[in-house]
Amino acid sequence: MKVRFLGTAAGGGAPQWNCGCAVCDRARTAGVSRTQDCLAVSGDGSAWYLVNASPDLRTQLLASPELRPPPGTRDTPIRGVLFTSAELDHTLGLLSLRETGGIDVYATAWVHHALKHAFPVEAALAGYTEVREHRVRGGEPFELAGGLRVVPTVLSDKRPRYAKRMKPGEWVCAYRFESAAGVFVYAPGLSRWSAEFGKAIAGADVVALDGTFLTEDEMGPARPASGMGHLAIRDVLPLLAAEPGPRYLFTHLNNTNPLVLPGAPELAELAAVNAAVAADGHLLEL
Ligand SMILES: [Zn+2]
Repeated sequence: MKVRFLGTAAGGGAPQWNCGCAVCDRARTAGVSRTQDCLAVSGDGSAWYLVNASPDLRTQLLASPELRPPPGTRDTPIRGVLFTSAELDHTLGLLSLRETGGIDVYATAWVHHALKHAFPVEAALAGYTEVREHRVRGGEPFELAGGLRVVPTVLSDKRPRYAKRMKPGEWVCAYRFESAAGVFVYAPGLSRWSAEFGKAIAGADVVALDGTFLTEDEMGPARPASGMGHLAIRDVLPLLAAEPGPRYLFTHLNNTNPLVLPGAPELAELAAVNAAVAADGHLLEL
């Protein structure tokens, strides 16, 4: 199995265009840039699937050698897209795939509904290419080309702000990817560490976790991380110590998170529990 981290920042990227916070300022000065959350995964190295479709997708695809079209063709190794949520930073890039001949889109019924009505990118894309809708449900495994088995786990019922009027339900999920070579879990929207999530990571080689915020009060007391559907890294670290085994990688970093910057002193806290921060372009081979 191959896994390419295409983007490792939360919505807005890091630095964020209109933010002059200490982290953004230092990132700008140092030339550090993290693009918005997106991942590519393949069981056999030839059939690839995107997990989320960020607004930075075109740049991310051009930077990934294995996602190039075969020479002399107008084709792509990308077979489909899986959504972990309907948030804008995960879905805005879907329209950038409109030149493809057809695409499989995997998401929960709630996310598909939002992408057809409240923010109708799936409906708009269907005017340009064939969109094949696949509904996923928590706990119901499905197969992808290239020998991947996928098990979704529902993480929360947090709706995007544009979909506030829609019903609560299976809005945010994690995916467990299994192949003959190993197990990788992608969970960029972890709001709480449930017993079900504990099962989802059992026996995994690598687990990518929600690294949005280092601390619960990073955005100030009025905007706690938990209120935005994110479990802060410092609240997760003791749990990782109790679940040794997988390699843990934090992704989806907000621009306020000091771990955006390479060499941040806080990285030592992560290293103590076999954890690190994923970087844009990071390639995992299991
Ligand atoms: Zn900032």
